[in-house]
Amino acid sequence: MTRTLLTSLTILLASALLVASFGCAAAQLPDTGPGSVTAEIADLFEGGSCDDIHSLTQREPFRQVSWMMTDADISEAEYRVPAGDSNRWTDWKPAEITFEEGTSYNARIILSEPTERIEVRGGENLHRAHFSFDSRVTGRVPAQRGSLCSSGDSHPWCVNSESPAGEAPKDLITRRRDWGAIDPERICRDAAMPTRVSFHHTFMPGDDGDDAARSIRQIQAFHINERGWCDVGYHFLIAKNGEIFRGRGGANRPGAHVRGQNRGNIGVGFIGDFTAEPPTTEQVESAVRLTRWIHTAFDIPLTRDAIRGHHEWPGQSTGCPGELMNGDVDRIAQIVEQAGLEVPVNIENRN
Ligand SMILES: [Zn+2]
Repeated sequence: MTRTLLTSLTILLASALLVASFGCAAAQLPDTGPGSVTAEIADLFEGGSCDDIHSLTQREPFRQVSWMMTDADISEAEYRVPAGDSNRWTDWKPAEITFEEGTSYNARIILSEPTERIEVRGGENLHRAHFSFDSRVTGRVPAQRGSLCSSGDSHPWCVNSESPAGEAPKDLITRRRDWGAIDPERICRDAAMPTRVSFHHTFMPGDDGDDAARSIRQIQAFHINERGWCDVGYHFLIAKNGEIFRGRGGANRPGAHVRGQNRGNIGVGFIGDFTAEPPTTEQVESAVRLTRWIHTAFDIPLTRDAIRGHHEWPGQSTGCPGELMNGDVDRIAQIVEQAGLEVPVNIENRN
């Protein structure tokens, strides 16, 4: 999040405090436009929130609120919304927990009517949550873990997901079966030859809590259950310790990571919030190895034009992958440069 945006949020918060007429003071979020916006509640309530109730207001009405948490128990989180036009609230209702593994949780709230205001309480460390608001319901029935391919059937996903085209070497990546991926119910769009690469930070979660595979499962669950996508949006994910995970099967299957620019675009998601801290040394080193392999496997040039940060593509309204990845110090340029310096990886052993 940029300093300018923070400043405008502060101004908006100050004006929202003046006009709050009931309940706790509401924070006014910036105009969202269509689709989803992410709010960092910690930025909005620096002094702590009112009686542990987090009150949020948006100009654009929303139907869905979702968030991910690591190292926090939000199983008791509840919400309420204004009841009609009067200055009353609905009863508190439980948020829907769609992923729970250890102390990692995903939660969502799907509203029957659009609202501009919601209050949330009862979850541990909710003040650290990054909430995502959607003007329409994108969530769907939570996917069940299990492999479509275990039965050995001829489902197109089972046939195509293990296609040798674009399969990275086993010693470079952790395969889907080894991190416990959910197999999608359907194939993710038509194949296209990759010609470009995009780097992202996951932003939420901003850390993997030293259990990277769990975080990858959490992100995949969020993308399927909350975003409504067929699979995790990225083709590859890089954990804090440098471990590289296979995301969406087949790098030639379009991902879901850059609005309107997914065709032929390989998405690499770094676990982290690079507005707050830079990528780890291990992540950068792994990105060099992965970029070198992508260059070799798909003949994608090692240039800053072909390999970009998410926000550098046309039409994006995001700061991803964060100022500490792609700001005054352009770590993407460093990764691209280093990928061209070392001996290319041997792709003969790719599976
Ligand atoms: Zn991104």
